[in-house]
Amino acid sequence: MLTRAPEEPTVREFDAAVTSVDGRDVTLDQTYFYAESGGQPADRGTLGGIPLDDVQKADGSVVHTLASAPDFDEGETITGVIDDDFRTYCMRAHTASHVLYGAGRRILSDLGYGGFDISPEKVRVDFVTTTEIDDGVLVELERLVNRAVWDARPVSWEEVPAEEAFERDDVAFNTKTEEGVMDDSDTIRLVTVEDWDVAACGGTHVSNTLEIGPVTVLDRSNPGEGLTRVEFAVGLTGIDRRATVHRAALDTARELETSVDDAAEAAASLRAEKQSLEAERRELESELLTERITEFEALAKNGAQWHVGVLDGFDSNDAGDVAKDVVREENETDVVAAVGAGERPYLVVAAGSDSGVDAGDVVSRATDEFGGGGGGGATFAQGGGLDADPADVTSFLKDA
Ligand SMILES: [Zn+2]
Repeated sequence: MLTRAPEEPTVREFDAAVTSVDGRDVTLDQTYFYAESGGQPADRGTLGGIPLDDVQKADGSVVHTLASAPDFDEGETITGVIDDDFRTYCMRAHTASHVLYGAGRRILSDLGYGGFDISPEKVRVDFVTTTEIDDGVLVELERLVNRAVWDARPVSWEEVPAEEAFERDDVAFNTKTEEGVMDDSDTIRLVTVEDWDVAACGGTHVSNTLEIGPVTVLDRSNPGEGLTRVEFAVGLTGIDRRATVHRAALDTARELETSVDDAAEAAASLRAEKQSLEAERRELESELLTERITEFEALAKNGAQWHVGVLDGFDSNDAGDVAKDVVREENETDVVAAVGAGERPYLVVAAGSDSGVDAGDVVSRATDEFGGGGGGGATFAQGGGLDADPADVTSFLKDA
């Protein structure tokens, strides 16, 4: 026979007659254990004092798989004890998912049920919706759920004729919960959170939203086209997560020397300030680089004006950018060759297009001489990892 768990979810101990024993698999004339279905896991507990491994539906009956083969036989009466902590957790978690869906009804567009699952740490609900569930929407869903918990809304369940249920347009259906709901063929089990949500569901629920306790939204993701998955926690996981987030908010506000309410604004203005300082720093560095490069020793080679020298404390990319600018903007400079100070110097070469000098060629001659690697085109090239003293590289460039 089917489980009585959804009808009487508060029963934790019951007697039943054994109708079959097959290895570790046992069936009973009645059971209050919940068989895994519709996203709710199987109950835990003991049967005749033996721990349960699993509870599943099979061929219209409920199969209890024990951890070891039982010492009782068909026809005997045994006692089943349902693990109170786990069942109570599942009831709270399951009802919370209905309350979350009810919250979704209030703020999400074109809403549909995409799926549902309870794990020992968290619960997920998949929404079909055209609304983008961003941070703001996520927080509002959480707020509405906790508000509905606080409102202490009665939760009830009843079997109604299937036709009647399908005619109502306020009932949430999903294929997974229908597994549990459709077993009784021509009736459907409706779970109602008063003035909040109605869903076809075969799970176990608390009888008032107050029993759910605090609900904490953990995350969201997009498991598929048009689906948004919202993960949340009831119980200890949620309470601990809340403490973590609260602590992080307070730490952040303290570091920013402001209140939690003003922390985001303070962080945004700090970032803007950092960006503007960074821009200023780059400009100053570029000015300094330009000055250094224009102070390089000038020499004329084959009719082209070269500026050759060593740069200390500048990145090769920055040096390259400024070298190109100098060649472009200073009429008296045709070629800039800058060597980075340090153990394995870099070399950047910028050459004007009418200078008669090929920058790539200059770099490859230097790397042929001193090792390292690099390359580039006629107007700009760079090398790195040269195995030489920077002064030797500049001498080579001047003499070559
Ligand atoms: Zn349910």
